[in-house]
Amino acid sequence: MPHSAVECPGSQERTPLGVLREVFGFGSFRGQQLAIIEHVTAGGDAVVLMPTGGGKSLCYQVSALLRPGLGVVVSPLIALMKDQVDALRQAGVRAGALNSRLSPGETAEIERAVRDGALDLVYVSPERLLTPRCLELLSRCRLGLFAVDEAHCISQWGHDFRPEYQQLSILKERFPGVPLLALTATADGPTRRDIVAQLQLAEARVFAAGYDRPNLFYRVVPKLNPLEQLWRFLTEEHPADAGIVYCFTRRAVEETAGWLRARGRDALPYHAGLDGAVRERNQERFLKEEGVVVVATIAFGMGIDKPNVRFVAHLDAPKNLEAYYQETGRAGRDGLAADAWMTYGIADVMSLMRLLDASEATERQRRIERQKIEALIGYCEAVSCRRQVLLGYFGEADHPPCGNCDNCRTPVPSWDGTVAAQKALSAVYRTGQRFGAHHLVDILVGKATERVVRLKHDRLKTFGVGTEIDRRGWLSVFRQLVAQGFVLPDLSGHGGLALAPAAAEILRGTRTVRFRLDQRGPTRQSPKPDRKIAETTELDPVARALWEALRAWRLEEARRQELPPYVIFHDSTLLEVARRRPISLTSLANIPGIGASKLERYGTAIIGIVAQKTLDPEALQTASPSRIAHGETKGPD
Ligand code: ADP
Ligand code: ZN
Repeated sequence: MPHSAVECPGSQERTPLGVLREVFGFGSFRGQQLAIIEHVTAGGDAVVLMPTGGGKSLCYQVSALLRPGLGVVVSPLIALMKDQVDALRQAGVRAGALNSRLSPGETAEIERAVRDGALDLVYVSPERLLTPRCLELLSRCRLGLFAVDEAHCISQWGHDFRPEYQQLSILKERFPGVPLLALTATADGPTRRDIVAQLQLAEARVFAAGYDRPNLFYRVVPKLNPLEQLWRFLTEEHPADAGIVYCFTRRAVEETAGWLRARGRDALPYHAGLDGAVRERNQERFLKEEGVVVVATIAFGMGIDKPNVRFVAHLDAPKNLEAYYQETGRAGRDGLAADAWMTYGIADVMSLMRLLDASEATERQRRIERQKIEALIGYCEAVSCRRQVLLGYFGEADHPPCGNCDNCRTPVPSWDGTVAAQKALSAVYRTGQRFGAHHLVDILVGKATERVVRLKHDRLKTFGVGTEIDRRGWLSVFRQLVAQGFVLPDLSGHGGLALAPAAAEILRGTRTVRFRLDQRGPTRQSPKPDRKIAETTELDPVARALWEALRAWRLEEARRQELPPYVIFHDSTLLEVARRRPISLTSLANIPGIGASKLERYGTAIIGIVAQKTLDPEALQTASPSRIAHGETKGPD
């Protein structure tokens, strides 16, 4: 029984690489993709932990095409499902989806196709899958595999817990012989254990790639005038790119979006308080058009699979590092260079602490949350490679300095703060570990405030021992002692500071500390990514003109088919066309991302554009210098 729409004589001999080339147009597998596909195709179960953009979908898509029978993909996000199905259809794969958005007629049609064995892959929402009707339907077909996407939704510990996911244990019970893959980009230890236990995957092989997203440039700038700072970042580095700006409150979202629009940027708000139809329209525009900026609370993002989000900017601190990694992870899914940029002020973090203190959480939960906030401060205040801090937090120690974050690009000036730390810690200790930073600074600089005198703190040995550093400097010392884990904000929530166990080593003189030298104002140039790796800026004038023509063609094609442009072709594919300028179908077929089906559909149109833009002498003229200069980003200073 043939099981794919793609012409393939002798389907016995289909190999993973054959399918990858023919259907998806890629030349080779990445990372552990091949090992996963071979394991699953041979009938094995797998738990796949891979960072966003690592290429998880391909693992079950290629496996499903290789195994006889239907591949069933459980996915919680309906919008994402639609994108995947559209993209597969573009690649000539017979794919469909079953979810609550479909009309009864459409549902009946997909169900019939499933029954007739006319589909290679079907995407199903968990709710739909768990209905008796759907389970019954599946039990009557030949099944190739199950893939449970976003498998972390199964865990109560995760941030996206979905109760329906816990009932997916039924898959192994009802269909014991069908291989099952569970895939996720975010699973810490407990979440991983939940996935294995609840999906009954004890026998499964675990494929764990690291969490690293090497194409993201991480940068934190001190919050001075955030909107102006954002504006500068956008105009200098992303004048025409799509991206997401996160703010903490709905009001800030509205104001920021309005402010950007007033300055001529196509910016749209997105938050839970907006009318559903408006939200949907804004998301739709972000997906289907080019260069739209969405300003959002964290309500935006789940299910955003747009591969060419070129930046994620945080105007306010995220909730914690997990949230930060999720949110920034939405940038650069296509593997091309992208930015994770944040303005950070200690006030943001303090308001997170206050929110926590006002919450109903139990003492244990609060302690955990507080540690998470401290880890976030540690990241923001880091003097060394930010990627090391992030990956270390997710359990990947020993990552070498990355060379692709602000601190790696421009080492932070730092100073030996051991003596200052000893003074600060002893002030904490001698006052009984219950006072806040401002009072402690008064003592250190010898300021006999009414409170200091009343508490007789002017008689302490530490009174006035720190006049060599000003108030600002001492506040920075305390902040960094908290960030580095030597001082703990006290647990009663009064803003007092207490010593952490590690502080003893500093007080004894067996351990040294370094602090970042906080510089005031915008004098310190914020380091920028090495724009050699920002793909579009390295195009020569002809290639750039071609790239723009190809994008315009894609947008038109996408509008015609009512699809997002990236479902037609990814940026990386069009960039490669612009660089290599193929003028025959054979050479076009060698470009990554152009499989048999897309070659047939779009090949002639593309080589037509290439020929027109590169062979016609007039076209060379249109690549005018002013246009080039405009698009080009200034390199690092
Ligand atoms: P994930 O689901 O892990 O976030 P995707 O499956 O969406 O990642 O893949 C991310 C991007 O990488 C997509 O643009 C995809 O087409 C591309 N990709 C995946 N595998 C390969 C490969 N072997 N060669 C080239 N591109 C790939
Ligand atoms: Zn780094």
